[in-house]
Amino acid sequence: METLLKRYFGYETFREGQASIIEQVIGGRDALIIMPTGGGKSLCYQIPALQKEGMTIVISPLIALMKDQVENLIQNGIAATFLNSTLSQSALNERIYELENGRYKLLYAAPEALSTPYFNRLCQKLTIDMIAVDEAHCISQWGHDFRPSYRAISGWIETLPKRPVVVALTATATKAVREDILLLLKLQDPYVHINGIKRENLFYDVVKPVHKYNYLKNWLAKSPETHTGIVYAATRKTVESLTDKLRKDGFNALAYHAGMSAEARNQTQDDFMQDKVSIVVATNAFGMGIDKPDVRFVIHYNMPKNMEAYYQEAGRAGRDGLESTCLLLYDASDIVKQKLLIHQSTSDTERHQIMLENLQALVRYCHTSACLNAEMMRYFGETVTEETCGYCGNCTDLTAAVDYTVEAQKILSCVYRVGQRFGLNVVIDVLRGSKSQRIMDWHLDEVSTYGIMQDRSVAEIKELAMFCIAEGYLTMTADTYPILKLNAMSQRVLKGKQRVLMKPSKQFERAKIEKTGS
Ligand code: ADP
Repeated sequence: METLLKRYFGYETFREGQASIIEQVIGGRDALIIMPTGGGKSLCYQIPALQKEGMTIVISPLIALMKDQVENLIQNGIAATFLNSTLSQSALNERIYELENGRYKLLYAAPEALSTPYFNRLCQKLTIDMIAVDEAHCISQWGHDFRPSYRAISGWIETLPKRPVVVALTATATKAVREDILLLLKLQDPYVHINGIKRENLFYDVVKPVHKYNYLKNWLAKSPETHTGIVYAATRKTVESLTDKLRKDGFNALAYHAGMSAEARNQTQDDFMQDKVSIVVATNAFGMGIDKPDVRFVIHYNMPKNMEAYYQEAGRAGRDGLESTCLLLYDASDIVKQKLLIHQSTSDTERHQIMLENLQALVRYCHTSACLNAEMMRYFGETVTEETCGYCGNCTDLTAAVDYTVEAQKILSCVYRVGQRFGLNVVIDVLRGSKSQRIMDWHLDEVSTYGIMQDRSVAEIKELAMFCIAEGYLTMTADTYPILKLNAMSQRVLKGKQRVLMKPSKQFERAKIEKTGS
């Protein structure tokens, strides 16, 4: 194993977990491997592939990356190739001929290929010793990137002349997704390896700036000039306008999104890899397969669609193990945008619901005052042994928490008084004594909590309500139009058995400070 590592990849030692996984897989055992992005999953099947007699087929959903992955292997002297829909008929025929003649050890294919007659004919003729299923979370509809084509994999494996070893790999999987992978890929007595998701060199923080752009600009201005990083934004339009603004303000920034020409995209990517540009402003199209070790910051200008996406994108920072920052700039309007995107993306109601719940988990992350690392670990089903990591944005925020119990009780009472039938905006309107038409039409001005928070701004009440939701004192349904409901914890708060302590600096007070520029 060490000899192969050194000869083909030029590395001296294995990383955590790699050696035992490789040993098991070489020994013929199925495996499920969960390791963070950049953790070194590929070697876990590439080394066994070199050692095995027959071929290994790698199923990978990212057609755009296949070529690069294969080229890297070829550069290392490994006989690898790929088959996908981008090949011309003549190139395809030539590859099939070469494959049949045993020229390759590794074959990369898209899951869609499994349903094509030519691919199935080919597989009947090859000796296939191993199947590696990359991005295995795509098989589960509980995951963030469900691809129905993945569901065909286990059926296809059963058609092969001999059952090969099956290795499933992913960077992120909650418990439900893990169970789906085991079940739907029909892994047999698999060796399961889970590398903790916690990365101690990453400083996670969530900030809610009043003026996002100003905040970003000031933050970047303070970052050392030699530092490079990524600013993620939700849409192509935002990417472009943000890049323009940053450039006008003197920053060395370039844009990257799928709407740009391949040439322009490659240029940005190359400039980034070679440190010719310090900031890449990008949509989520940027990053997959980009293996730059010294990314010092990943800033999310908009909230991504869920926790998995956030973890994966933020995780591109600090692969070299040095301290790096992952900052999420939160604005409640991003939730509305993401909901709209979810609405447009699927008509399947069950899928729709799952996507909303996944988004809700990230919203909770944005509002919690608990340790951000612990919050993330809990989300991914890991056992949390320490409730404070001591180095995330929440743990290092030394501002004393303020007792907001009375205010929280007012909000909860109002939710009760309006019959647990309305969303946050209506509840806020009632609390502030709004005279809007809808409040009058629904006679909500008659409830006892009408106007009891007149002295508070909409933003303040909203922040506190969202905090209560994040901490579990209040429930918000995961619907397109979420409704506020009370739960067992709400009762405790209402009865004064649970105090609501929130750090003002984390919430609206910090926003106020920023506004005044101090
Ligand atoms: P993943 O698929 O988990 O995101 P990769 O397999 O692409 O990660 O590995 C990330 C980077 O780490 C690659 O550049 C890879 O060559 C490197 N790497 C993997 N294993 C080792 C090792 N044992 N020693 C040094 N570098 C490694």
